[in-house]
Amino acid sequence: MIESPRLPHPLDMDALHEECGVFGVFGHIDAAALAALGLHALQHRGQEAAGIVTYDGKQFYSHRAAGHVGDIFSSPALMDHLPGLVAIGHNRYSTTGETALRNIQPLFADYESGGFALSHNGNLTNATILRRELVRRGCLFQSTTDTEVIIHLIAISEQVNTVDRLIEALRRVVGAYSLVAMTNDRMIGVRDQMGIRPLVIGMLDGAYVLASETCALDIIGADFLRDVAPGEVVVIDADGLTSLKPFAPVAPRLCVFEYIYFARPDSVVDGSSVYEARKRIGVELARESHVDADVVIPVPDSGVPSAMGYSRETGLPYELGIIRNHYVGRTFIEPSDHIRHLGVKLKHNASRAVIEGKRVILVDDSIVRGTTSVKIIEMMRAAGAKEVHLRISSPPTINSCYYGVDTPERTELLAANRTIEEMRAFIGADSLAYVSIDGLYRAMGHGSRNSAQPQYCDACFTGEYPVALADRDGGEATPQLSFLSSFG
Ligand code: SF4
Repeated sequence: MIESPRLPHPLDMDALHEECGVFGVFGHIDAAALAALGLHALQHRGQEAAGIVTYDGKQFYSHRAAGHVGDIFSSPALMDHLPGLVAIGHNRYSTTGETALRNIQPLFADYESGGFALSHNGNLTNATILRRELVRRGCLFQSTTDTEVIIHLIAISEQVNTVDRLIEALRRVVGAYSLVAMTNDRMIGVRDQMGIRPLVIGMLDGAYVLASETCALDIIGADFLRDVAPGEVVVIDADGLTSLKPFAPVAPRLCVFEYIYFARPDSVVDGSSVYEARKRIGVELARESHVDADVVIPVPDSGVPSAMGYSRETGLPYELGIIRNHYVGRTFIEPSDHIRHLGVKLKHNASRAVIEGKRVILVDDSIVRGTTSVKIIEMMRAAGAKEVHLRISSPPTINSCYYGVDTPERTELLAANRTIEEMRAFIGADSLAYVSIDGLYRAMGHGSRNSAQPQYCDACFTGEYPVALADRDGGEATPQLSFLSSFG
């Protein structure tokens, strides 16, 4: 059954969401099938919609739909209609409004030079300003995504070849972007100057692969070659891979939340294992805020490695005291308000045998609005926990993200509006502590955060946005990508 794309799952509303996953393969007989598998491995980066565009040497083929990758690309007949040796794909998480077909990527345009398909992970922070300018110049937008701005900037470029046109377009945009694009004869990967979102290069049977994360290389058996460097443009054609560095170099600022929550734990992002990073954050968390207790329990799934690190550091036993039901379908609960109140219990259940009579340290990755934490702590108490101490493997999330992660407005972020003690009282824990920002940086292998030149983007914790927020500062539109509200 294809799940409704229109409403966020009530149980997922108190969580941060990655915007998108991108994938591409150049020069493989099974290009479309590999793209579907790659997108499947990147499903965590976007669950609302997915699409694949292929090229068979004569024409482009496209299929885009709302739903999960496994539902959309399960039919052999459909895959037969995506022929060719080149394919790019995209997973989308839509932030507001509908997941209209017109917004599902890859976007496609026919230029004088031929077809062009584009997949984007990230968010452009001057897209509204650019869009107004382009509309005034006569550009007719087909979607409401920020990504389409790039399509039109390419169209009006005076450069001759498509790569130069794309580079010229990217000189105008500001924000976070990892792009995978394809033309009649090449595949192109680009990472923004700071490398805020990840992008890796792999190789399978002599074919180049581009993907948001290494887990998408693993699923197809591709070898990891390297990360696309911040500000790098890689052009892949029949002659191989050419690396271009057309932008002035700046210090990289990968999104540190990739390590805390977004990326899959089996991925390696910019040379660091996500799983090991999460364990080290748990170690720092234990060093900074340990409290006497009997057992360490993770909130599944992303709290698991940090809880393991916490347990190892303190010597307290690590137990799976919360069991996650992976088979909760959103259509199952949407129609009925009277079962909606069951809330978190549908997704998580506390194991009384592990919890009863114990002083519990609960490890989670973040608190957004706090509603999930309230329910989980209630659940722990109902299962007989004597004490519940909540430990969070990120600093307090006090700012919205404008670089491609769906975060609520600041007014809705619990930590932006309450002290730690007020939050503790709100969620009903016996104690609450977060890893410090320096603890996070230590876990990432740095002595501390370099306040003059932070090593990562950490704006949702610090408010120091590394890339200008032109739309927001100019009073334009909403932080994330929907233009539905501003352009109708
Ligand atoms: S603001 Fe936060 S979530 Fe957004 S890119 Fe920066 S670190 Fe990542």
